[in-house]
Amino acid sequence: MTTPPIRLLVHGASGRMGQALLRLAAERDDLQVVAAVTRRSPAQRVVDGVPHFAASELHGAPQFDVAIDFSLPEGFDPVLALCVERGAGLVSGTTGISETQRQALIQAATRIPLVWASNFSLGVAVLDELVERAAAALADWDCDIVESHHVHKQDAPSGTALTLGAAAQKSGAQPHYASLRAGDIVGEHLVQFTGLGERIELTHRATNRDIFARGALFAAVQLNGRAPASYRVRDLLAASAT
Ligand code: NAD
Repeated sequence: MTTPPIRLLVHGASGRMGQALLRLAAERDDLQVVAAVTRRSPAQRVVDGVPHFAASELHGAPQFDVAIDFSLPEGFDPVLALCVERGAGLVSGTTGISETQRQALIQAATRIPLVWASNFSLGVAVLDELVERAAAALADWDCDIVESHHVHKQDAPSGTALTLGAAAQKSGAQPHYASLRAGDIVGEHLVQFTGLGERIELTHRATNRDIFARGALFAAVQLNGRAPASYRVRDLLAASAT
């Protein structure tokens, strides 16, 4: 007997991430996008077999197992509420959410399985773990985080640099940050631990934005059917390896 595909709702479907999610999900037999949600009314109701809905029609979407949300903070509350209402999982990469929205996520995690991450790259999830371990082992070493991004990126340090810094801090390091904005760099993060006469450099380089969409699809598969809780990408990677 074959396992039915996991039913996905893609929220923010017309955006760069949404389009990558639709393209990559279409290549897989274990996933079926049952609803693609865009902010405005879609020009076509069905595209490549996927039903499209405007954000105002969110409640009319068919039943789904996991929603993947890469939208904007103003779109976040309705999709979170819908997941709780339907008992579905939520994978969200939407950045810039407010403290109130973070609290709502914590509340929702008592009812549904969810993962929110500022970076869905699986490589960054592993880097996060390595940084935590290095910082714990190398007390008194200097810890510096250098992040580089394209010239259009507004915020600095990046959300990912801050997440890596939090991992270092949790293990006792006092990270310092530097940000570079140049050309079309997709995203690079260097976490450097410097002692007397030696240095460790942990670097992640992103060359393609599809890594975030692939990581979100991985998270959706791993999240499906799990108990309500807030998971990290790291937790899901560890669970998939056992
Ligand atoms: P984009 O501007 O190309 O797309 C945004 C999408 O959100 C559009 O489809 C738009 O229609 C939709 N949207 C906006 N307001 C909405 C609303 N009220 N209701 C429903 N949909 C709404 O942006 P993008 O580059 O695709 O990025 C989307 C989000 O994902 C941003 O928050 C970005 O910072 C974040 N992001 C996160 C990661 C990660 O790994 N966590 C990676 C890349 C981007």
